[in-house]
Amino acid sequence: MATTRHNWTKEEILEIYNKPFMDLLYEAATVHRQNHDPNTVQVSTLLSIKTGGCSEDCGYCPQAARYHTNIEGNDLMSVSQVKAQAMRAKEAGSSRVCMGAAWRNVKDGQEFDDVLEMVRTINRLDLEVCCTLGMITENQAKRLAEAGLYAYNHNLDSSEEYYKEVISTRGYQDRLDTIENVRKTAVTVCSGGIIGMGESAEDRAGMLVALSTLNPQPESVPINALVPVEGTPMAEQQQVSIWEMVRMIATTRIVMPETQVRLSAGRTQMSREGQAMCFFAGANSIFAGDKLLTTPNPDVNEDMEMFKTLGLNPQKPFVKKAQPVTVDAEKSEYMALGEKPRWTRPGHIIERNLAAQEKSKPKA
Ligand code: SF4
Repeated sequence: MATTRHNWTKEEILEIYNKPFMDLLYEAATVHRQNHDPNTVQVSTLLSIKTGGCSEDCGYCPQAARYHTNIEGNDLMSVSQVKAQAMRAKEAGSSRVCMGAAWRNVKDGQEFDDVLEMVRTINRLDLEVCCTLGMITENQAKRLAEAGLYAYNHNLDSSEEYYKEVISTRGYQDRLDTIENVRKTAVTVCSGGIIGMGESAEDRAGMLVALSTLNPQPESVPINALVPVEGTPMAEQQQVSIWEMVRMIATTRIVMPETQVRLSAGRTQMSREGQAMCFFAGANSIFAGDKLLTTPNPDVNEDMEMFKTLGLNPQKPFVKKAQPVTVDAEKSEYMALGEKPRWTRPGHIIERNLAAQEKSKPKA
């Protein structure tokens, strides 16, 4: 069994990333087999519970209000709508439902209370529940944990240096602070990033340094390939090749041996053979369903066919960690504090973000 190290350097990670392809694949597959069942893949369903209208300027995201993309926005879904979708996801073989809301950060109030009720409802369906709601305070993390949350997603996106080229409305430290708040509870951490945003191999290694030196390392690391969306600052970005994706997955597997590495956005652009290579290199989690928040994703049936071809089995829920106990709202130990945390807003200039914003302004 490979030991989990928390002192990886950028140079060491780059050396792994740049190994001859076959050596890299062999090493990653070996580490994978030492730590996981290579024929089991965890399947999550991503549900956009509140879409669009976000105040942030993430250069890859069609949900940022300022870029006026063609996505259909919606207000927060109701608890019963979410329950119906979660039941459908369970029937289709998912073990986890991940709810995403296009918020900068969570604000105490009715909407957050509704999300807490959604968490209770899904946990009672015996599914793992994950949320991605933006930045959260320690008290908010504790309330989510008490409701039965299994995982909280908060991506670092890229290296600290390249993050400044992607987002100006919050800082890298804000992300790390939220992860730390989640770590003060029993909720597991899901944090990864995106490749293909124009970053260098050094930036990819830098992101893996930031993630792998967390102690404990995140239980789940999604690796996304950018899906360029018309109207966003990254609309013209060239798609990453499957070779880069496999290299990134293999490197992630080697430096974070126990983590579930999630093959996330960008799967529609990959062949089944390409995805099989990703699984061989250590990916052991995917998102199912025809949409990933707002971008396309392979159909569930297509995925199940691929699983059959490859002899893969979907992982059952709560294999890695026991199911959290849900506490009813009336019996809650924590209350809304109405906090106004000082998340940063660096506000530096990112030319391509400003250009996309300017271009999307309605013509007078
Ligand atoms: S990635 Fe999240 S925070 Fe950034 S613009 Fe999109 S919805 Fe908002």
